[in-house]
Amino acid sequence: MSRRRFIAGAVCPRCAKMDTIVVDMDADLRECVDCGFQEARPQAPSSSELPTRVSRGLSRRTETAAEPVRLMDLSISTKKDS
Ligand SMILES: [Zn+2]
Repeated sequence: MSRRRFIAGAVCPRCAKMDTIVVDMDADLRECVDCGFQEARPQAPSSSELPTRVSRGLSRRTETAAEPVRLMDLSISTKKDS
């Protein structure tokens, strides 16, 4: 009944075997068929349940982009003041 898909190249965190991880599309679980390891599927795309994980990539991009601007801003205002 459940739809399961193997994740190519995925490594089980418990038994460290490759290509043994399946994703259960209905239950939102990932599972190792070899050792029985189970974990909630991390990349749930829809909800706001995991805002940190979802926004992590985005905020990282913003941080990187803003950093040189802040540095420039600081050095300019320092020169102006002195
Ligand atoms: Zn395993």
